[in-house]
Amino acid sequence: MSARRSKIRVKTLIVEMDGDEMTRIIWGMVKDKLILPFVDVKLEYYDLHIKNRDKTRDQVTVDAAHAIMKHGVGVKCATITPNADRVKEYNLKEMWKSPNATIRSMLDGTVFRKPILAGNIKPFVSTWRKPIIIGRHAYGDVYSNQELSVDGPGKAEIVFTPSDGSKPIRKTVKEFTGPGIIQGIHNTDESIRSFARACFTFAFDQKLDLWFSTKDTISKTYDARFRDIFQQEYHRNWAARFQDAGIEYFFTLIDDAAARIIRSEGGVLWALKNYDGDVMSDMIASANGSLAMMTSVLVSPHGYFEFEAAHGTVQKHYYKHLNNEETSTNSMALIFAWTGALCKRGELDGNQTVVRFARHLEAAAIETVESGIMTGDLLAVAEKGPNNRKVNTQEFIDAVARRLTEALRG
Ligand code: NAP
Ligand code: MG
Repeated sequence: MSARRSKIRVKTLIVEMDGDEMTRIIWGMVKDKLILPFVDVKLEYYDLHIKNRDKTRDQVTVDAAHAIMKHGVGVKCATITPNADRVKEYNLKEMWKSPNATIRSMLDGTVFRKPILAGNIKPFVSTWRKPIIIGRHAYGDVYSNQELSVDGPGKAEIVFTPSDGSKPIRKTVKEFTGPGIIQGIHNTDESIRSFARACFTFAFDQKLDLWFSTKDTISKTYDARFRDIFQQEYHRNWAARFQDAGIEYFFTLIDDAAARIIRSEGGVLWALKNYDGDVMSDMIASANGSLAMMTSVLVSPHGYFEFEAAHGTVQKHYYKHLNNEETSTNSMALIFAWTGALCKRGELDGNQTVVRFARHLEAAAIETVESGIMTGDLLAVAEKGPNNRKVNTQEFIDAVARRLTEALRG
């Protein structure tokens, strides 16, 4: 290619976090074939491979999070969250914490998950035309609960003992006459407010309506506090901006929201409490065809962004790969992690050329699928077409690279 144009320069560096297994293999291919040939970008590299996390006693994960806090934008490959099997498999010193949990708690973020839509992969819900994005609060509630099982009659209470020495507040939960179960959950105003800010920021950024739903009719203190904090935050900081942007904030009961989502055409950000978001994001992902068609971004209220794929390291495919068997693993979500990071970097740097490149790459990837060239997971759910054919992991990325090169030339 003699007429090769010069590479697009990205002003500020991006924090790159490499990962594990099949996604690590794909990560290298995406970088070498779809990013670095076209873009001149400085990458600050952190190797979150499980062995390197083990070697550094997980310091590398903490360093990566600090780097995102310093530079603003990071892109992360999927990583193994160790369990007992992995400790054995990789001979680990410890069962290290999930890197995602570590990074999330340092960045104080909210996770947004957005499906990637292709014309020939129809969502199972026929009215959905635009993506439904989930914003999941990632702190508290049942995920940091205390629970008890009781064997027989007795009184269960909740007690709050103020630190200033004033009188404790107690409430009877239940006078048990027989065996049963009890659960205590909590959240903090600070975490709810930062969740609200992340959701308003994201909706404003993407020019989307924001829906928030809780069960405030039943939970008149707990869920109602979420509703009130969102409302306050909206009135104080967002109402005017939303109006100018022509977008809407809308609170409703979760039952009503679930019913409306199914009848909607999509194109909204649906903010949900921790458990609700956990359940609903899996429903939305599978209703869109494949785990590999879901992007994920961690948005911090302090202005940091971390982009990744919503899926894991695709362990089963990796073992096939190690066995020299052909794999057909879908790289869409990893490609979109890179475009998400580049696009955000371009926006923050005020560099539209970088933003345009990211959009070109996304279009090339979607058009490749729409042309019938796709990996096995998609072929199984795609609309029938005469040109549909299953390609292997590398062939898919090569096909995207060809389309991208053409688009940039044209
Ligand atoms: P997974 O990697 O998401 O894969 C589960 C299954 O989904 C795969 O076996 C495959 O199904 C399908 N799949 C997922 N991504 C695909 C892709 N890109 N292309 C084609 N098919 C895809 O989940 P897992 O196997 O439960 O977890 C593996 C490791 O990932 C675990 O160690 C876990 O800790 C880690 N994990 C990391 C993250 C993260 O870093 N964000 C998230 C979740 C899990 P078939 O086998 O049927 O083809
Ligand atoms: Mg889940």
